[in-house]
Amino acid sequence: MAVQQNKVSKSRRNNRRAHDSLTAANPNECPNCGELKRPHHVCAACGHYADREVVAMVDEVDLDDDAA
Ligand SMILES: [Zn+2]
Repeated sequence: MAVQQNKVSKSRRNNRRAHDSLTAANPNECPNCGELKRPHHVCAACGHYADREVVAMVDEVDLDDDAA
Protein backbone atom coordinates (compact mmCIF):
# COMPACT_ATOMS: atom_id res chain seq x y z
CA MET A 1 0.00 0.00 0.00
CA ALA A 2 1.27 3.43 -0.88
CA VAL A 3 1.87 5.71 2.07
CA GLN A 4 1.93 9.47 1.65
CA GLN A 5 5.24 11.13 2.47
CA ASN A 6 3.85 14.42 3.76
CA LYS A 7 0.68 15.50 5.49
CA VAL A 8 -1.68 17.38 3.17
CA SER A 9 -2.62 20.61 4.90
CA LYS A 10 -6.24 21.69 5.25
CA SER A 11 -5.52 24.56 2.90
CA ARG A 12 -4.07 22.35 0.18
CA ARG A 13 -6.86 19.78 0.60
CA ASN A 14 -9.56 22.47 0.42
CA ASN A 15 -7.90 24.11 -2.58
CA ARG A 16 -7.96 20.76 -4.37
CA ARG A 17 -11.66 20.36 -3.58
CA ALA A 18 -12.51 23.88 -4.72
CA HIS A 19 -13.27 22.57 -8.25
CA ASP A 20 -15.25 19.51 -7.12
CA SER A 21 -18.69 21.06 -6.82
CA LEU A 22 -21.37 19.95 -9.24
CA THR A 23 -23.32 22.46 -11.25
CA ALA A 24 -27.05 22.17 -11.72
CA ALA A 25 -28.41 21.15 -15.11
CA ASN A 26 -29.90 23.92 -17.23
CA PRO A 27 -32.71 22.25 -19.16
CA ASN A 28 -34.59 23.90 -21.99
CA GLU A 29 -38.16 23.22 -23.06
CA CYS A 30 -38.44 21.23 -26.28
CA PRO A 31 -40.15 23.41 -28.91
CA ASN A 32 -41.92 20.34 -30.35
CA CYS A 33 -43.27 18.45 -27.35
CA GLY A 34 -42.58 20.76 -24.41
CA GLU A 35 -40.54 18.19 -22.54
CA LEU A 36 -37.43 19.44 -20.73
CA LYS A 37 -34.27 18.63 -22.66
CA ARG A 38 -30.55 19.40 -22.49
CA PRO A 39 -29.54 22.44 -24.52
CA HIS A 40 -27.97 21.64 -27.94
CA HIS A 41 -29.08 18.02 -27.66
CA VAL A 42 -31.75 15.98 -29.41
CA CYS A 43 -34.94 15.74 -27.37
CA ALA A 44 -35.04 12.33 -25.67
CA ALA A 45 -38.84 12.29 -25.62
CA CYS A 46 -39.68 13.02 -29.28
CA GLY A 47 -36.35 12.88 -31.18
CA HIS A 48 -36.60 16.42 -32.52
CA TYR A 49 -33.83 18.97 -32.85
CA ALA A 50 -34.49 22.53 -34.01
CA ASP A 51 -38.05 21.79 -35.18
CA ARG A 52 -37.13 18.73 -37.25
CA GLU A 53 -37.26 15.05 -36.38
CA VAL A 54 -33.72 13.68 -36.51
CA VAL A 55 -34.22 10.46 -34.54
CA ALA A 56 -37.18 8.24 -35.32
CA MET A 57 -38.91 7.17 -32.12
CA VAL A 58 -40.65 3.80 -31.76
CA ASP A 59 -43.30 3.01 -29.17
CA GLU A 60 -42.15 -0.51 -28.39
CA VAL A 61 -39.27 -2.71 -29.51
CA ASP A 62 -39.98 -6.42 -29.89
CA LEU A 63 -37.01 -8.62 -29.06
CA ASP A 64 -37.30 -12.16 -30.30
CA ASP A 65 -35.47 -15.00 -28.61
CA ASP A 66 -32.86 -15.79 -31.29
CA ALA A 67 -31.63 -12.19 -31.50
CA ALA A 68 -29.75 -12.54 -28.24
ZN1 LIG B 1 -39.41 16.91 -27.68
